[in-house]
Amino acid sequence: MIPDLLDRTARQLRELLDRGEVTSEELVRAYLDRIAAVDPGVNAFITVAGDLALEMARTADARIRRGEAAPLTGIPLGLKDLLVTRGLRTTCGSRMLAEFVPPYDGTVVARLRDAGAVLLGKLNMDEFAMGSSNETSAFGPVRNPWDPDRVPGGSSGGSAAAVAAREVVAALGSDTGGSIRQPAALCGVVGLKPTYGRVSRYGLVAFASSLDQIGPLTRDVADAALLLTAISGKDPLDATSLDRPVPDYAARLRADPRGLRVGVPREYFVDGLDPEVEAAVRGAIGLLEDNGAEVVEVSLPHTEYAVATYYLIAPAEASSNLARYDGVKYGLRVAGRDLADTYRKTRAQGFGAEVKRRIMLGTYALSAGYYDAYYLRAQRVRTLIARDFRAAFERVDVLACPATPTPAFRLGEKAGDPLQMYLNDIFTIPANLAGLPAVSVPCGLTSGGLPIGLQFMAAPFGEQTLLDAAHAYERVRGEPVAYPDPASTA
Ligand code: GLN
Repeated sequence: MIPDLLDRTARQLRELLDRGEVTSEELVRAYLDRIAAVDPGVNAFITVAGDLALEMARTADARIRRGEAAPLTGIPLGLKDLLVTRGLRTTCGSRMLAEFVPPYDGTVVARLRDAGAVLLGKLNMDEFAMGSSNETSAFGPVRNPWDPDRVPGGSSGGSAAAVAAREVVAALGSDTGGSIRQPAALCGVVGLKPTYGRVSRYGLVAFASSLDQIGPLTRDVADAALLLTAISGKDPLDATSLDRPVPDYAARLRADPRGLRVGVPREYFVDGLDPEVEAAVRGAIGLLEDNGAEVVEVSLPHTEYAVATYYLIAPAEASSNLARYDGVKYGLRVAGRDLADTYRKTRAQGFGAEVKRRIMLGTYALSAGYYDAYYLRAQRVRTLIARDFRAAFERVDVLACPATPTPAFRLGEKAGDPLQMYLNDIFTIPANLAGLPAVSVPCGLTSGGLPIGLQFMAAPFGEQTLLDAAHAYERVRGEPVAYPDPASTA
């Protein structure tokens, strides 16, 4: 086998595949071996789809031989287990959907299949995407490949850990308040949340419909660009997807920071920010400046309200979206004395504690008498937060700040304290509330050897600018220090 095959990016593999130096089937076998060796320790996968992957690989190889390969043909990917896959179990990390086999593909899944990408399986996550540590999964926690006693972040923790541990070339996750960027930061990979409406949500199990977006987790920025092009675009099946041109982001990537106007939001350097994270992020911004970027301080005055606003809007939407799990149409059914008792028992046994907490918070915020005081007011604050960004983007091209306040914390450390857990997303939530694209890029390690993420945000549909900034940073940074090497049981 080609040495370091598992370290290659999707673009590097494309060349090897097209030159016939490796087949997709060989690649898939190498990845399945890797999963068998390290995943018992990492627990990134809920379902490994070995036979399906090999079948898809052989189809991809035939297509490559015919000279009809698309950029992702034959590339082995993983999907967060809330993207519905026809004929392949989709659990959402919940007992409620533990046996659910969808009869259709979500739009992004269908696009990847059409592109000839290979699905290695479905990746672990916090239950219904609610969490920042992957500890709420009904399928056990994911361990951070850099340190097995630490969390990978969440809710796309399986996606981030699988990329970092080289169990997949790249993965898709979803981000409602940070669930792509936060685990990407904690696992030392690139994670991008697109503009709200850039990517179809059809076939994404809904958490908070006005915030959810699907996006890529990858080894580098150019791979994120490649995947973004593959999944973006208007979809008649999602009325909130927008009809805007989908550029070939990867082909247009610029690596030169000269002239780039970078805003540094003052409110993102707060008490409680880990000093090593602050130093790494300031160092990264300084490096961009040394290489010709224009760095200015900006203010986003409503930032301090973002977490509170999110924890009204997201649970409110979740309480409504999760009403569909009633033991009747699909998913778990725990039969009771009568219909109401069946609802009660199904929901009592099907949902975990965090999901129940969100449903209660959301139901309260939406109830008559409280709606105006909580939900409506949160929507108004959301508008103020979006306005802050609009004003900032009149002066700068991108904003740069930390992706998370701390590096990966220990398993169990915050599990008993929801507020501490929620504060993890303090720097990622604003982009969801404002619908902006944002990305986390690795920007170094702590003295203890844990990854740190630098976040960029851009104006709506500014994905190219966002990717250019991240790519420029990646180039001036140089290669990341190393890949983690989780213990192999093979
Ligand atoms: N951690 C946040 C939450 O628990 C964000 C989750 C997400 O983006 N899906 O709601």
